[in-house]
Amino acid sequence: MAKVKSNAEIDLEIQKLKTQKVENHLRDEANKIKAIKCPNCGKKLGLKPKSFMKKDGKAITVECECETLVYVLVDYRDSPETENARIVVKSKGHAWETQRPATWKDKHALKWYNLQVEAIKEDKCTLPEETQKLIRAFDAALKQTATPTITESRKPEG
Ligand SMILES: [Zn+2]
Repeated sequence: MAKVKSNAEIDLEIQKLKTQKVENHLRDEANKIKAIKCPNCGKKLGLKPKSFMKKDGKAITVECECETLVYVLVDYRDSPETENARIVVKSKGHAWETQRPATWKDKHALKWYNLQVEAIKEDKCTLPEETQKLIRAFDAALKQTATPTITESRKPEG
């Protein structure tokens, strides 16, 4: 004969199932965030779900390995326990297109750029002449904008 469950037992099971449902939902949400990819190269951005999974979510701009800056918005109107995130992913272009080299987060690109500047100075650059011209012009423009900061820090005291 099947055991008849008491109301208390049923309530406990309902509670357990509800908890399980929330856990499943949170896992799905975390997986959605983990699966966010770079719109340029299709690589996963390796985002940590925890920092996004809160009321109001979070918006960041990260740099992908392909040097594309990617804007990511994960938006929760309410608690992630009950909501599905609205996720917006937008390419903001390459760091070298949209930012001054001094503010690049990508050290590889900056290192490459500096190496080319040095190579041009020493007449050892193997890049096409047109590209070298561009780097020279760029470098000159950067020096002009960088100067005020340097002179400022060298200002004598008093
Ligand atoms: Zn990418």
